[in-house]
Amino acid sequence: MSNVRVRIAPSPTGPPHVGTAYIGLFDYAFARHAGGKFVLRIEDTDQERSTKESEEAILRALRWLGLEYDEGPDVGGPYGPYRQSERTDIYREHAMKLVATGHAYHCFCTRERLSQMRKEQQKRKQPPMYDGTCRELSADEVRSRLDAAEPAVFRLKVPREGETAYTDLVRKKGEPVVFQNRHIDDQVLLKSDGFPTYHLANVVDDHLMEITHVVRAEEWVNSTPKHIMLYKAFGWEPPKYAHMPLLRNRDKSKISKRKNHTSLDWYREHGFLPEAMLNFLALMGFSAEEGEEVFDLDAMVRDFSWDRIKTSQPIFDVDKLEWLNGVYIRELGVDELIERLRPFAEAGRLDQGETTRKMVGIIQERLKTLDEFDKWTWFFFTDELDYDVETLIPKKTTGPETAAILRAALDAYEGVDEWTTEPLEQTGRGLCDRLEFKVGQVFMALRVAITGSGQSPPLFESMEILGRTRSLARLRDALARLGEQEGETGRIAD
Ligand code: GLU
Repeated sequence: MSNVRVRIAPSPTGPPHVGTAYIGLFDYAFARHAGGKFVLRIEDTDQERSTKESEEAILRALRWLGLEYDEGPDVGGPYGPYRQSERTDIYREHAMKLVATGHAYHCFCTRERLSQMRKEQQKRKQPPMYDGTCRELSADEVRSRLDAAEPAVFRLKVPREGETAYTDLVRKKGEPVVFQNRHIDDQVLLKSDGFPTYHLANVVDDHLMEITHVVRAEEWVNSTPKHIMLYKAFGWEPPKYAHMPLLRNRDKSKISKRKNHTSLDWYREHGFLPEAMLNFLALMGFSAEEGEEVFDLDAMVRDFSWDRIKTSQPIFDVDKLEWLNGVYIRELGVDELIERLRPFAEAGRLDQGETTRKMVGIIQERLKTLDEFDKWTWFFFTDELDYDVETLIPKKTTGPETAAILRAALDAYEGVDEWTTEPLEQTGRGLCDRLEFKVGQVFMALRVAITGSGQSPPLFESMEILGRTRSLARLRDALARLGEQEGETGRIAD
């Protein structure tokens, strides 16, 4: 057993984000590869924005994806509790320690004063930073203001000189990433309501939970020097860091819900397979063996190495995800596919029978998402096809010509007794040979008559499933519609 311990630390402030799954996937693959542990910690210290529903949705989404964690709020573990709102005493205690050792200080500046300060900094075109007013208050003054119940926050006392550096497993490949201390703000660690900020809670927990590698999105790089300082102030060894490239919209901006669906729930509800989602997210940051694009979680676990992490900006391209989803759908056995389709199909449409198996078998090739079952199969479930007569008439074909095609088809199919795909197709081809029309024209008229649409599952297989009586009735119905059109418009005169 290795000592590798990684975590995802989502904040439950909205729908479960694709970014959480992306980072969770890399955590998971690394932990499993190294024989270590993967931990879920809920960072719910923002009391105003955190909700129970959001936490539940995150757990559900991780379960859906199969990113099983070894420790977490719902499964427990030796380093709990795994919800930060249940650990507030721990943070307070640690913040006090930092004050005692001179690494943090009480700050009494009011909201009004801070916003005034920020305005002035803006005017002078200076970066917004705490100006240090409370940095050097005497112990006596602090005591008396606390005794007078003046609200106070705890701030980190960032050295004004020198540099803070760390190395990243992904960025700059081992070269130190260096920050000038004078540009680092005296970060608030504990708020006046007694709740910690992200920075304090995150560092304290990563240490106490013995996290060895912090894998997270690169938007946290600029927080890392503050974290390194905190580790130093506590006298702790910092973990290793791996900052993953951010997922991006097509225009390269940071992924946003204005330009992409960012909720994992949306993908689940729209019939994406978890294994396709994982493969897609893996492609965002991982180069598989020989540039393979289709690989599963096991392969990623097996081949995981930090050298394989891409540093280029990954574009979250839903077309690619749809393509992958189709690949995974085609790999499923029919029975498995039926089970996966069931929640998406109209009730009662998917039984265990042979017809269902045939139906699913013929649409499998065409499905991009599981929620397309009804779209491809609706015509099997009704005898009132709802289509516009115009769609019956193929391109470069007239109404009377279409009627001629369908009349010939009806004649020919009335003579077919063995109603299975092969003879049905032979009859169709024979028709094309006899008639003066192109295959495309004949099959299009037939397809619309049988399925009500120009886009359908394979035609002759569909006819087999529909059966003789229903198929012939549809041909007659199509002819009747053409006849009606003739009556209405008087255009057709043969
Ligand atoms: N709570 C942070 C988030 O929501 C965690 C960042 C980290 O992994 O340090 O992304």
